[in-house]
Amino acid sequence: MLDKRAEGASGPAHLQLVNVWKRFGEGERQTVAVRNVDLAIQPGEFVTLIGPSGCGKSTLFNMIAGLLPPDPDGSVVFKGQPQQDGALLGKIAFMPQRDLLFPWRTVLDNATLALEVEGMSKKAARQKAEALFPEFGLKGFEKHYPQQLSGGMRQRVALMRTFLFERDLILLDEPFGALDALTRSMMQRWLLDIWAKHKRTVLFITHDIDEAIFLGDKVVVMTARPGTIKCEETITLPRPRDASVVTTQEFMAIKRKLLAIVEEESMKTFAAAGAA
Ligand code: ADP
Ligand code: MG
Repeated sequence: MLDKRAEGASGPAHLQLVNVWKRFGEGERQTVAVRNVDLAIQPGEFVTLIGPSGCGKSTLFNMIAGLLPPDPDGSVVFKGQPQQDGALLGKIAFMPQRDLLFPWRTVLDNATLALEVEGMSKKAARQKAEALFPEFGLKGFEKHYPQQLSGGMRQRVALMRTFLFERDLILLDEPFGALDALTRSMMQRWLLDIWAKHKRTVLFITHDIDEAIFLGDKVVVMTARPGTIKCEETITLPRPRDASVVTTQEFMAIKRKLLAIVEEESMKTFAAAGAA
């Protein structure tokens, strides 16, 4: 059953999750990682997902991306079409939490990886990638190897690879998690520019509440494991957003509200760990 709320004026949701579950293992050793997740994402929306560590965020992404089959309870619906196991593989762009740049490939050849896998010739893939280097702040670094770059630059290579794989839905799993605060905030503004220009739908996992509010049209909060949707907060802060938005009353009020919710959930994780 498709949720009527997901039918916006412009047609079906870009992505809809209907009663999605994931259990690992069996019997007493079974872990319920994700339970009863219902979520609708509209075309062009920037949705951020936060929740305590281990609550099932990456598992949810792996299911959407088609890398992991959801349990048979529910379904992943893409542009109005329910998907069979793994069907979205290759239809969406996905940057996993631990993104692998191959150390033996140059920056350029790392960027073209997904295009080559798709069957594009090396030459055509390189031409396409080269055009994006200036926009991603990597001009002049085409022949470098990943280990010669800073953390922020490596993240941009991984993001460029994800954007080069031209899909209108992009999943980013904590892409800025390993960066220092200054680099992170620069990357956030830069990502919003790129998003506004390329007009893609983005689903973005973070454990940073400021980041979730700053970037999102909507912040989705997950409960402690087994993770489900605790609440959704629509963010009406005007765009384009710059660093000053985080000092506004409106931002602070949303942050206070979300912080209380996330803290309550994190305490549950903590209590569960203490009881184990
Ligand atoms: P998050 O990304 O929110 O930190 P994960 O989705 O990585 O959380 O993990 C959610 C839960 O599922 C954790 O308890 C984790 O140990 C468990 N889990 C994830 N993948 C597997 C797997 N392949 N086999 C067994 N348990 C898993
Ligand atoms: Mg994760």
